[in-house]
Amino acid sequence: GAERIKTVLILMSDTGGGHRASAEAIRDAFKIEFGDDYRIIIKDVWKEYTGWPLNDMERQYKFMVKHVGLWSVAFHGTSPKWIHKSYLSALAAYYAKEIEAGLMEYKPDIIISVHPLMQHIPLWVMKWQGLHKKVIFVTVITDLNTCHRTWFHHGVSRCYCPSREVAKRALVDGLDDSQIRVFGLPVRPSFPRTIINKDELRRELEIDLNLPAVLLMGGGEGMGPVQKTAKALGVSLYNSKERKPIGQLIVICGRNKVLASTLASYEWKIPVKVRGFETQMQKWMGACDCIITKAGPGTIAEALICGLPIILNDYIPGQEKGNVPYVVDNGAGVFTRSPKETARIVADWFSSNKTGLKSMSENALKLAQPEAVFDIVKDIHHLSQQQQQRIPLLTDFPTD
Ligand code: UDP
Repeated sequence: GAERIKTVLILMSDTGGGHRASAEAIRDAFKIEFGDDYRIIIKDVWKEYTGWPLNDMERQYKFMVKHVGLWSVAFHGTSPKWIHKSYLSALAAYYAKEIEAGLMEYKPDIIISVHPLMQHIPLWVMKWQGLHKKVIFVTVITDLNTCHRTWFHHGVSRCYCPSREVAKRALVDGLDDSQIRVFGLPVRPSFPRTIINKDELRRELEIDLNLPAVLLMGGGEGMGPVQKTAKALGVSLYNSKERKPIGQLIVICGRNKVLASTLASYEWKIPVKVRGFETQMQKWMGACDCIITKAGPGTIAEALICGLPIILNDYIPGQEKGNVPYVVDNGAGVFTRSPKETARIVADWFSSNKTGLKSMSENALKLAQPEAVFDIVKDIHHLSQQQQQRIPLLTDFPTD
């Protein structure tokens, strides 16, 4: 018979740029693969439906970190899991009504969490509401290696891990093999499967056609030593003997407006473009020859697809730390915190060591997983069809 349109609720939080990019990647891939068969809703559910502290995740980051620490202690210590369990139970009880209201409004058939703190409470609420057998709940992990344990919940239908390292951690935490799939980090389908003609992109973006180009950024918020690195590149990419540049610089500052205006007012000897938050990252990456960034998983996965050698200059302690060996050990980039060293490496790549740049680019392409997001949505579709065969009355949500 005619298939009903299914509703997919993606739970995210708009901190940084990574969670939103992953959520959009999944939404766009559903659209490409299945057209109108799925209705996709992306929600920062906590912000919209719950009270303090969950609706205020950004400002209350410290609060959350404190409790993440508590969970971690409860997991690691010899003391039983009841500490973090009872703490979360209390929170879930308190916020259940609000979360339930959120679930009831959208009546999702499928819930996808792309956030480390969005497994426990929604799964508890679903269980209390008797929805856990009707609604498919999956987690898409967006950290490449050293992810936090709150990502793992044994009650999920699937836990999509971006790498084998993360899958190992999931197994250690007690997830079953059958719950785990390793496809890669979801990247927005707007990132092309094959490398696009650089000249065309450069013409469109109005950047020099002949000079090699380095892209400098720091995630959605423009974090890390961006300013110092830009200035060092302004020196290292200028050949003072011949009085001409050996490369050009593109800086994408994301939401960091102060950084953008500071860099824009600086006098450069090389061609420099300073931009704010860009919505077409695939074009900027596609037009450049290498990238300098903090170790954000989203930016790394995208750069790999574009075949860009990566200089990692910073990482957020904890979840981003493991992204460094992921890139470096696979020969797709290097790590240095020194802006001067970064500038030296880029100048080297753009002059005497073009072969080094090329081989790193090849390694990057080998690591890239542009199909990951499609594999994920196809697997979710498959789950949803299995579910339909088992339980015919998916539309029934309890009403009181
Ligand atoms: N991004 C973007 N426009 C910008 C800056 C960043 O679309 O101007 C995207 C970037 O392409 C990536 C995400 O924001 O998908 C950043 O995610 P990442 O995991 O690297 O770091 P986060 O910002 O989450 O710390």
